[in-house]
Amino acid sequence: MKKNLLLHVCCGVCASRVIEKLLPSYNITGFFYNPNIEPPDEYQHRLQATEILFNHYHLDLIRGDYETKTWHDAVTGFEHWAEGGRRCWRCFKLRLEETAELSDEKTFPCFATTLTVNPHKDAQFINNWGLYYAKLYNKKYVPINLSADDRYNLTIAKKLDLYRQKYCGCVYSANI
Ligand code: SF4
Repeated sequence: MKKNLLLHVCCGVCASRVIEKLLPSYNITGFFYNPNIEPPDEYQHRLQATEILFNHYHLDLIRGDYETKTWHDAVTGFEHWAEGGRRCWRCFKLRLEETAELSDEKTFPCFATTLTVNPHKDAQFINNWGLYYAKLYNKKYVPINLSADDRYNLTIAKKLDLYRQKYCGCVYSANI
């Protein structure tokens, strides 16, 4: 029997690369929780792309709070680290812990994240923290480890004409 899985989604394009891989084994509910994304227009573009994707698959999507202050508080002191450094570690951890917490609140036995999909992200680091929070909340973390080809696959994104962002998400990655 398929298990219910809460999938943290960073953007529609990354999610488009993993949904079909998870669908045979899991009942997926999406969770768009990305208070790192600024400005608000950019946030809306990425949320809308995620909504288009989840509508396409007839899957539920939970919209997390757009709590930018929480994100800025989480990275205070590390704002100007290079991409991939400690600011990003905190950014990943915030989103993973919120996902673990919500999976607990809504009794999902499993959770996962699309954060590992982007070829510029350290998938091993993210998966290790996913496993850490899973243990903390007594959940199963499902690591998403795509092949190099799958990490660049745009088949569904092009078919649905999903918005493709030009920077990671925060003001520091956008230089705005
Ligand atoms: S560069 Fe990306 S992962 Fe790093 S802090 Fe900014 S939004 Fe988060």
